[in-house]
Amino acid sequence: MSDFKYKYDLHVHTYEASACASMTAAEQVKKYKEAGYDGIITTDHFFGGNTRVDRSLPWKEKIEAYCKGYEHAKEEGDKIGLKVFFGVEQGFNGTDFLIYGLDKEWLIAHPEFESANIEETYKMVHGAGGMMVHAHPFREADYIKGVTLRPDCIDAVETWNRGNRLDDWNIKAEEYADKYGLPHTGGGDTHNLPDTPAGIITKEPLNSWKDYKKLILERGEYEIIHIHRG
Ligand SMILES: [Zn+2]
Ligand SMILES: [Zn+2]
Repeated sequence: MSDFKYKYDLHVHTYEASACASMTAAEQVKKYKEAGYDGIITTDHFFGGNTRVDRSLPWKEKIEAYCKGYEHAKEEGDKIGLKVFFGVEQGFNGTDFLIYGLDKEWLIAHPEFESANIEETYKMVHGAGGMMVHAHPFREADYIKGVTLRPDCIDAVETWNRGNRLDDWNIKAEEYADKYGLPHTGGGDTHNLPDTPAGIITKEPLNSWKDYKKLILERGEYEIIHIHRG
């Protein structure tokens, strides 16, 4: 029996803030609890991606609307016993990055985050003590303008993304991470009910996103959940 037992999905969308998601934050939390997970990180599409938030709102209201997905998930998680941490998925013409370590107050105080390019975003995230992970770098889809690789602007690679239609895209991501000596992560990229949760399994529980950062960057002990597609 493996002593890896705590499951986390590091890439979860909610109806509240992602236009392409059909499950509300509370529904997601219940689904993960039933699937035996210890926690999730919500990573809704930010304004460079497929956000549900009205981009014409004033900045503070926009951030408040954006954070609703996380807040509802946290509320439900506190109720039923699932840990919920905050993350962001920011997109640059379909090149997506999972960003961990920011929070609502930081976003409200940094409106320049919305139009920052990849390099500026990376610097801002690091300035805030956070980390940046390239999400599904080799996915092919209509909304993605082509593969853009920025190994200089990431801390890790999401090497196994359940939302990727082909295993080949995940295998390429593993090779990319290894070529640059970057840590691997995994995520469900869950949006809808049939989506199978994915992510990582750890030996020790994670009690904050900082535990997650330490685990990944210090190459702690974890396994990536490989869901095979085709
Ligand atoms: Zn989406
Ligand atoms: Zn995503």
